[in-house]
Amino acid sequence: MTVKWGLIGASTIARQFVINAIRAQPNSEITAVMSSSPERAAAYAKENGIALAVSTLDALLGSDVDAVYISTTNELHLEQALAAIRAGKHVLCEKPLALTSADAHTMVAAAKAAGLVLGTNHHLRNAGSHRAMREAIAGGRIGKPIAARVFHSVYLPENLQGWRITRPEAGGGVVLDITVHDADTLRFVLGDDPLEVSAFTQAAGMASGGLEDGAMCIWRFKSGVIAQSHEGFTTKFAGTGFEVHGSEGSLIAKDVMTQRPIGSVLLRTAKGEEELSFDREDLYVRALRQFHAAIAGEGQPSATGEDGVWSLTSAEAALQSAKSGKSVAIDPKLRGAG
Ligand code: NDP
Repeated sequence: MTVKWGLIGASTIARQFVINAIRAQPNSEITAVMSSSPERAAAYAKENGIALAVSTLDALLGSDVDAVYISTTNELHLEQALAAIRAGKHVLCEKPLALTSADAHTMVAAAKAAGLVLGTNHHLRNAGSHRAMREAIAGGRIGKPIAARVFHSVYLPENLQGWRITRPEAGGGVVLDITVHDADTLRFVLGDDPLEVSAFTQAAGMASGGLEDGAMCIWRFKSGVIAQSHEGFTTKFAGTGFEVHGSEGSLIAKDVMTQRPIGSVLLRTAKGEEELSFDREDLYVRALRQFHAAIAGEGQPSATGEDGVWSLTSAEAALQSAKSGKSVAIDPKLRGAG
C-alpha cells in the first residue's frame, strides 16, 4: 500500500529533512502541501515537486491523503492534529505536540480512540549514537547509572531567528524548542522517567517578548539518577554532548545533539577506552520508517504521542520551576487532562 502524505506547514524542517525522509520510504508519496498563504503554498509545492498546493486545512484533509506531517508553529499543532484525526488521518507531529501537556493529552486520546497512529518527531531517538548509548546502559556496560549531563546549547541560525525568539503565543523560547528534546533523549537513553526538575532560564540577548533563550535544568529520575541539561540559542562555540556516568563506567558522547548522524561515543571503564561504533543512518529517514511500520500495524513510531506528552510535561515543569524558583514535580498523569 502506498502511504500518501500531506504536509501541514510550508516549513524549514520539512524542506531540509522530512520531505527527503518521506520520499526515502518505499511506497510513499507526498501529494499535497498546505500553507496559510496561497502564494507560499504554490511556491513551496513547486520548489519541492509536490502536485497539490492548498491554503486551508479542509482542502488538505479533503484531498487524497492517508497521513499528515504537522510542522507549523507550535500553537497550531493541537487544532490541526485534532482535525486530521477527525478526518481519519495518521499524524506525525512536530514537537512540542502542543502548548500545554493537557492539550497534548487530548491529541493522544483522540488518536487512540480513532485507532490512528500519532507520532512525535523527536528525531534524536533515531540517532545511532543515542541508540548505542541506550544499548550500552541497558547491557550493564557502565554498571549502575548515577548521573547524566546534556550539552545542547547552540547558536540559532539566522534564518530561524523568527517566531522562536519573538512570539510567546506561538510557543517560542528555548525550553519548548530544545529542552523538550533533551527531556525525551534523557528518557530514551536512560530508559527512565524524570520525577522532578529545577530550572533557571535567561534572556541572553537574542529572545524578546519575555521569552528565554537559555536554560539550565537539573532533573531527578525515578531510579535516583540526577541529570543536568543546558539549552541555548546564543552560544556560537559551545559544541554539543551527552554523558552518562555509572558505577562501572562512563559514556561520553560528543557532537550528538544534532539533526545529522554525526558525533562519537566513548566508553571509559577499568578496561580502558573504547569508541562505540554505531549506524550513521539519517535520523529522519529512520523515524519515517518506524512511522510507516506503525501504520502497517508493526510496532510504534520511534517517539509516540505519549512520549510527546512526557517531553512537554517535562518542559512545562521546567518553565514553571524557572518562574517560581522551586523544583517542580513531573507527572504526566496528574498534570494532563485525561
Ligand atoms: P519555520 O519557521 O520554517 O516554519 C513554521 C511556519 O512559519 C510555517 O508553517 C510557515 O507557515 C511559516 N513560514 C515559514 N517561512 C515563512 C516565510 N518566509 N514567511 C512567512 N511565514 C513563513 O519553522 P521550523 O521548520 O523551524 O519549525 C516548524 C516546527 O517544527 C516547529 O514545531 C518546531 O518546533 C519543529 N522543529 C522540529 C525539529 C526537529 O528536528 N524535530 C527541527 C526544527 C523544527 P505556513 O505553513 O502557513 O506557510
